[in-house]
Amino acid sequence: MKVIVLGSGIIGTASAWFLNKSGHDVTVIERQPGAAQETSFANGCQISVSHAEPWANPAAPMKILKWLGKEDAPLLYRFRPEWLQWRWGLNFLRECTPGRTNDNIRQIVSIAEYSRQTLQALRTETGVDYDCLTKGILHFYTDKKEFEDSLPAAKLMRDLGCPRDSIDADEVIRIEPALTKIRDKIVGGDFTATDESGDVYKFTNGLARKAAEAGVDFRYSTTVTRLLTEGTGASAKITGVEIIDPKGRHTVLRADAFVMAMGSFSVPLLKPLGVDLMIYPGKGYSATYQVTNPDAAPTVSLTDDGYKLVVSRLGDRLRVAGTCELNGYTRELNTTRCDAITRRTRELFPDACDYDNPVYWAGLRPLTPSNVPYIGKTKFANLFLNTGHGTLGWTMGCGSGRAIADIVSGRIPELDFAFTGMPRRKPVILTAPRTVQA
Ligand SMILES: Cc1cc2nc3c(=O)[nH]c(=O)nc-3n(C[C@H](O)[C@H](O)[C@H](O)COP(=O)(O)OP(=O)(O)OC[C@H]3O[C@@H](n4cnc5c(N)ncnc54)[C@H](O)[C@@H]3O)c2cc1C
Repeated sequence: MKVIVLGSGIIGTASAWFLNKSGHDVTVIERQPGAAQETSFANGCQISVSHAEPWANPAAPMKILKWLGKEDAPLLYRFRPEWLQWRWGLNFLRECTPGRTNDNIRQIVSIAEYSRQTLQALRTETGVDYDCLTKGILHFYTDKKEFEDSLPAAKLMRDLGCPRDSIDADEVIRIEPALTKIRDKIVGGDFTATDESGDVYKFTNGLARKAAEAGVDFRYSTTVTRLLTEGTGASAKITGVEIIDPKGRHTVLRADAFVMAMGSFSVPLLKPLGVDLMIYPGKGYSATYQVTNPDAAPTVSLTDDGYKLVVSRLGDRLRVAGTCELNGYTRELNTTRCDAITRRTRELFPDACDYDNPVYWAGLRPLTPSNVPYIGKTKFANLFLNTGHGTLGWTMGCGSGRAIADIVSGRIPELDFAFTGMPRRKPVILTAPRTVQA
């Protein structure tokens, strides 16, 4: 079957890889001159099954109200006269009930764990080098109440098979001695030894090169302008995509099946077709610093709960990422937010990096209210979705690619997940190894 994948971030690239492995003739359309140049470019780089708890949870509404109007707030909702943003906000509130939060966690753990295993197999198979570290993720807390409030979520994660162990401050320092400078502020933490980190940009590009060698046709610098349809009801299908090629010419590309993997930009392309996705762009920031004193910089990937920042060591660089601003599709850098990241990183690891030359970046997380992505079928028999991976697209990416290749090929993926347009499988309790390593 001829399949066109729309977008070459981590999601589109992983989809293309597995579709090719399933025996399809695959073309990828990407508007940038290479893979992973938008949201999959400079993110937090964590493979964090342990972060399956979505932002929409019972404690979220009060926190968001408290943060309204604060320029350096971890999550900033800037109200706009825009129906999608308001509708998204109302749906977000609906996902904050305990029942829905727990079901969302269950689904995210399921696909994230499946994805991590898929990534591990892929790196063995392809040998792609992406500054991968398998030293776990350490989440530390500086607020006693936040730490206590995190204990039920950690227990739920353990019940679902994710070994997120709650630990005291001494254990936090034993696992990552680079945090010693703020020892007196730390009240506790949790550690998930099976989590990982690595550069999503390097991985996606390495995988795209391997996929191209295997026969996938990557059309870069090519913009999709619309999807063409024919028929109605059960016989409705996509006949082609209109593109602008690198020479500026409008052309139509035809295929048997189409996979939408354009992150936040999936929405405007599918809306005219009546496929109404609840995805809103959540702008996040990252800063990358050159490590000047390797012994003073962390190697275990970290989550700083108080500041909602994640930290990953990528060879001789330190990546710090976080914060979210709901303010449309703008990617402009807000200096207050950038400065806040550097101030905090310098406080945590004062002697580790060159803080005078940070490289700042902003990207748009494709956020669904629940943080559960859209993977599966649509009302068009040959249009498939792999989009809306929100805060965890790197964590869920390889598994999502594998799952969509199964679905396009007529197979049912083996995991508990509400794939769109398909019956849900019975919940499966995952069993991950419970070895704790430092
Ligand atoms: C600050 C920050 C930190 C993050 N940290 C983490 C983390 O630690 N761990 C984690 O798991 N996730 C993290 N994420 C989330 C993760 O980065 C995203 O979920 C993921 O990158 C989404 O991948 P994607 O392929 O769906 O989207 P993208 O990478 O945005 O890919 C979509 C592609 O579609 C292309 N495209 C769009 N429109 C068109 C068009 N009209 N024609 C042709 N091509 C088009 C774009 O150029 C782009 O390459 C973070 C995100 C941010 C912003």
